[in-house]
Order: sequence, then structure tokens, then C-alpha cells
Amino acid sequence: MNKKIIEIKKLVKYYGKNKVLNSLSFDVNEGEILGLLGPNGSGKSTTINCLLSLLKFNSGSIKIFGEEMTPESYEIKRNIGVVFQNVAVFDELTVYENINYFCGLYINDKDLRKKYVMEAIELVGLNDFIKFYPKQLSGGLLRRLNIACGVSHKPKLIILDEPTVAVDPQSRNNILDGIKKLNSMGATIIYTTHYMEEVEQLCNRIIIIDKGNIIASGTKEEIKESIGIKEKVTVKVDGLSNEHIEKIIKMKNVEHVSYSDNNLYVEFSNGNHNLLNLLDYLKDNKYKCEKIFSELPTLNDVFLELTEKELRDNV
Ligand code: ADP
Ligand code: MG
Repeated sequence: MNKKIIEIKKLVKYYGKNKVLNSLSFDVNEGEILGLLGPNGSGKSTTINCLLSLLKFNSGSIKIFGEEMTPESYEIKRNIGVVFQNVAVFDELTVYENINYFCGLYINDKDLRKKYVMEAIELVGLNDFIKFYPKQLSGGLLRRLNIACGVSHKPKLIILDEPTVAVDPQSRNNILDGIKKLNSMGATIIYTTHYMEEVEQLCNRIIIIDKGNIIASGTKEEIKESIGIKEKVTVKVDGLSNEHIEKIIKMKNVEHVSYSDNNLYVEFSNGNHNLLNLLDYLKDNKYKCEKIFSELPTLNDVFLELTEKELRDNV
């Protein structure tokens, strides 16, 4: 059995009359990187702030490390590292001093703290900027400092709220690698983002939220399968006969076939080895295949399909 680090049950949050969390329930298991994926305004930060007891919610319950989370749960909070969406560092302190300050809130021993601060600097790759002030850092480097400040005390649970918004690709890769490293060292991680490709790359499990509702959850494979999304294959093949096209239409898992300009386009419903079976069939019938593309669905396809359904349901 997986140990549950977080248990959220039927969380409801209103801002005035506006219901922004609509009875959210989910768990986070020890050792996983959970991706909370949703468009802007879907309720990711609100969920995080409720989770941390920074925001009062209307109903529901939140347990962290098996205990109810309250604003006075100091022992729980000591074991959580948070990286907020908006950078929060001291302008008058250097990179080193900033991290040392935040680490000092948790780690009293000076030598140990020095070790932890240096490890955090290493983790986010700020070694060359130790004496820089925040104003001297680019947006990406500032984000990395923000992360180092949030994680240097080696918390068991790390929550990152959109840590890569508007950062350059190099910093983004650095940040994603750093998060993987923190996880491999034992931290459980919640990662919010509206970038599909990040959760595909990083997360063991994904929860997709839209307008304060969970619309899908599971591994990326499970989520993609749950909507029966298709594999799309394009093959350049000259002179394919109508007879063979008819046969392809009847092949296993084939949903849709079209053929024009010597390009054969086939959509598969699901299953394995679809492309191989198709190519074998063409080869057996003496066709020469060139320029083969196979596109698997992305989470972006899933999100579009799901939210379209939502919209239709609401109309
Ligand atoms: P996300 O982090 O997914 O972008 P948020 O949790 O910040 O979304 O916001 C969810 C919804 O709550 C949005 O519609 C937003 O406009 C609204 N909201 C967020 N903060 C406040 C606030 N302080 N007062 C009123 N409405 C808010
Ligand atoms: Mg947010």
C-alpha cells in the first residue's frame, strides 16, 4: 500500500459567490510527482493555498502526513517546502544570503545549514551567481533562486506552483531536472502548471482540473486511454489500389482511412503494433512505403477533447 502524504476530501472554496473549487478530492502518495494541470484560473493556486492553510475554505477536509492540516500545524509545515507562483525573495540580500535566510528558518546548526545552502545552489545551478543580488538576475535565474529558497531545508513534501512560467528554455530544463533530482532523493512533489508537455515529461500521475473540477486523473497513459484517443499514422505510398484501401479500412483498430496525393492517413482507435501491422500489410502487397509519421495523442489532445465535452454538457 502506498503511504498517503496528502488526503483532500470534498474541498469547496468560494470567493464571494464564485465557487472556484467544486468538491475536489484527491490523494498524493509518498514518493510521487503529482502534476496538477489546468488552464489559468482553473483553481490550482487556490487548491495549493487551501492545502497550506493560507486560505480558509468553505467545506471539506485536508490531511497532510496523516494529520489534519490547520493554520497552527507547525510540525507539518516544517516538513513542507513551498515555491510560490510569484517570486518572493529579499532584494537587499544576495543569492547566498537569501537561501541562507530561508534555510535558517528550519535549520539551526550553522555547518549543516551551510552544507544545505550550497547543495541548493548546486541543485538549481546558481554557483556562478552566489554574490549577485536578485535585481542582477534574469527572470529564469530569479525563478531558480526562488526554488532554492523553498527547498534548501530538504522538506519531505515540496509544492511548486507554476515554477516555469515565462522562463527561458535553459532555466526551464534546469528547473525540471532539479525537481526530478529532489524526487529521486526522496521528496514527494506537487507540481502545478498549464504546460502539458511538462507534466508529460515530469509527473508520475496527473490530475487535470478545469473550473475547479477534476476532469481526469491517472497516469498519462491511463488518461489518454480513458478517452479512447487515437494514434494517427501517415505513410507515403504510391499507387495504392482501391481494393487495398478497402482492406485497410477493415483492419483491426482502424477508425478512419483517407488517401490522397499518394499519402495514406490512418487513425487507430487503440491497441498495440498498429503501425507495424499496417506496414507489414503494405509490404506483403509489394508497396514501397516512405516518409512514415506516427503521432500519438498528447495530453493537449486529451484536454481539448475533455473540455469540449464539458462545454457541450453545460450548454
Ligand atoms: P490558477 O492558479 O489555476 O490559475 P486560481 O486558483 O488562481 O487559478 O484562481 C481560480 C479562480 O479564483 C479564478 O477564477 C480567479 O479569478 C479566482 N480568484 C483567485 N484569487 C481570488 C481572490 N483573491 N479573490 C477573488 N477571486 C479570486
Ligand atoms: Mg495559479
